[in-house]
Amino acid sequence: MKLFLDFFRQIVPKNTKDTRCYYQQSMKINDQMLVIYFVVSFLLVSFAAKRLFWAPLVLLAALLFKLYRIDHISARLNLLLNVLIICGWTSWYVITFGWGVGGQHMLILLILLVFFCLYEPPFFKLIYFLSILMLRMYLFYYTSSHAPLVTLDSFYLFLMQTVNSVSLFIIIASCCIVYSSNLQDTERQLLLHNEQLQLQAETDPLTKLINRRGFLDVMNRYVADHPEAMYCIAIADIDFFKRINDTYGHNCGDYTLQTLAALFMERSPGKYFVSRWGGEEFCFFFPDVNIDDAGKIITDLLIEVRKMQLEYEGNKFSITLTAGVEENDYRSPLSELIESADRKLYLGKKNGRDQIVF
Ligand code: GH3
Ligand code: MG
Ligand code: MG
Repeated sequence: MKLFLDFFRQIVPKNTKDTRCYYQQSMKINDQMLVIYFVVSFLLVSFAAKRLFWAPLVLLAALLFKLYRIDHISARLNLLLNVLIICGWTSWYVITFGWGVGGQHMLILLILLVFFCLYEPPFFKLIYFLSILMLRMYLFYYTSSHAPLVTLDSFYLFLMQTVNSVSLFIIIASCCIVYSSNLQDTERQLLLHNEQLQLQAETDPLTKLINRRGFLDVMNRYVADHPEAMYCIAIADIDFFKRINDTYGHNCGDYTLQTLAALFMERSPGKYFVSRWGGEEFCFFFPDVNIDDAGKIITDLLIEVRKMQLEYEGNKFSITLTAGVEENDYRSPLSELIESADRKLYLGKKNGRDQIVF
C-alpha cells in the first residue's frame, strides 16, 4: 500500500516564476484544449447519437476536475489521469462509432505526454508506450471484426473525422510550443544562474576583487593563449596588518583591505590585473610587461600606499606593503613563478618589510 501511495506522491518542482515547470505547463495547455475538444464532441455526439450525449460529458467533468486540481497533484498522477481519460474516451468512441471516425488518433497525444514527462524513468515510459500501442491495436482488431454500435451518416462521419484530426494537430502543436519555449526559457535561466554562480565563486565578497581561484584561471588562460608573451607576477602583503586588527578592531582591518583594493582597481586599467590572493595579500599580473616596467608600476603603487592617510572611526593611520616580483623566464610553469614571487616576498619581510624584491 505504501509503495502504491509513494508511486503517486512523486514530487515535482513547484511551478514558480524562477523555476518554470514546462511539463506541468504543457499538460495544462493539453487539458485546456481537450476541454474544448470534449465540448465540441459533446455537441457532435448529441446531434449524431442523441442517447449517448452523457459520454463526452462524463469525460469533460473528469477533465475539468483534474484541471482544477492540476497544481496540487503530482506529475505522475496527472499523467495517469490523462491516460485513463483519453484511453477511456478513445475506446468508447471507436467501439461506438467505428475506426473510420478517427477517435484512435487521440492516443498519439498520450505518447507525446508520456515522453515529455521528465520525472518518469525510461522503464515506465516504455510500459506506457507499449500499453498505448496495445490498446490501439486491440481497438483496430476489434473494429475489424465488430460493427460499430452506432452507424453514422456520411455527414457526421466526415465532421467527426475532421474534428478529431484537426483537434489532435492543434493540441500537439500547442503542447510542443509551450513545452519547447518553456524549456528554452529554463535553459536560459539556468545558464544565467550558472554565470552568476561562477562570478560569485570567483569574487571576494569583502573587496569585490577576483579571488585566487578566479585569478589562477585568468593567468593560466593568458599563458595558454600567449605562449610567447612576456609577463610578470607580483605578490604584495600588508606589513604588520595584525596590529591594525588588534589596535583598531577587525572592522578597521576590513576597511583597510577595501580601501587598498579600491586603489589597486583604480590604478589597474591598461597596466595590470589584481586579485585578493589571501588574507592581506594581493596578487598582480602584468601581461605583456617586462620586469623593469612592472617594477616601476608596483613601486609607484607602493609609494602611493605609503603616503595614503587612512582614517577609521577617528583613528588615523598609514600602512606599508612588501612585494615580490617575478618575470616569465619562458622555462618555468606559472606555478613556479608564483612560488618564486612568494619567496621574494618572504625575503622582503625578513629584510625589514616596506620594500620590493626583484
Ligand atoms: P607581516 O608583516 O609579517 O605580514 O605581519 P602581518 O601581521 O601582516 O601578518 P600575519 O600573518 O601575522 O597576520 C595577518 C592578519 O591578517 C591575521 C588575520 O587575522 C588578518 N586577516 C586576514 N584576513 C582578514 C580579513 O579579511 N579581515 C581582517 N580584518 N583581517 C584579516
Ligand atoms: Mg602581512
Ligand atoms: Mg600574509
